[in-house]
Amino acid sequence: MIRIEDPTAARVPLVFDSPHSGSAYPDDFDHVLDRAVLRQSEDAHIEALFGHVTAQGAPLLHAEFPRCYIDPNRALADFDVALVEGDWPHPVEPGDKTGRGMGLVWRRMRGSGDIYDRRLSVAEVERRIESCWKPYHAALSSLIDETQERFGRVWHINCHSMPEMGDETTADGPVARPDFILGDRKGTTCDPALTEFARSVLEELGYNVVLNFPYAGVELVRAYSAPDESRHSLQVEVNRKLYMNEITFERNDGFETLRQHLVGFTRALSQEFARREG
Ligand SMILES: [Zn+2]
Repeated sequence: MIRIEDPTAARVPLVFDSPHSGSAYPDDFDHVLDRAVLRQSEDAHIEALFGHVTAQGAPLLHAEFPRCYIDPNRALADFDVALVEGDWPHPVEPGDKTGRGMGLVWRRMRGSGDIYDRRLSVAEVERRIESCWKPYHAALSSLIDETQERFGRVWHINCHSMPEMGDETTADGPVARPDFILGDRKGTTCDPALTEFARSVLEELGYNVVLNFPYAGVELVRAYSAPDESRHSLQVEVNRKLYMNEITFERNDGFETLRQHLVGFTRALSQEFARREG
């Protein structure tokens, strides 16, 4: 249910992951909402847009399961107990998005209603945790650890895409979004100088970039980062209009241009990170 693309060139101290681009819907999902509606939650094609990183010496981890089945970018405790039948036997600490149906296991799709017409069993949710969430986190944490052991430092780039427009339910409201949003949870998961550098590279490529709003980064940039110990995690949100049709999910004419720009982006991050070391 997860895939790790190994580097094909000399290793650099970067690690990339794409937690939300999976589209292999498991047989036991048993949802009532249309698959086409569920697919809107995918960060479609992100693993392909960043596929070049292996040729630049960085591993790429990506999920094959869909994020609405179970979301690796949520803490295990970020769970809506109303989803399950009976008592949930694990600690809970639901976040804001969980109240809107987008917790560890999604309950509803914004504007489209409930994903299930039933309550899930505790065992069913535990199976999703064991088969998807835990392997994803184990793989990411070991890629980050192993990179830090080798180089004494690591820069993790957590890759996502976002709808072209916000809406009434998002913190930015129903407005057009910038080309990129970089999130470092307000400077706590990545050295702000590195975040600024990443911003400047994208701006030089002609993109408009916003930091931390409305997407500051969630669990995957939080969980393994420690900037004071040279472990940096930065979330990159790419506007879907740059590379795909949000209705048909097909790549648009911008895909290849964007992909090439991201090749340059990765190279620039890699060079800058190496330069700072010396
Ligand atoms: Zn995402």
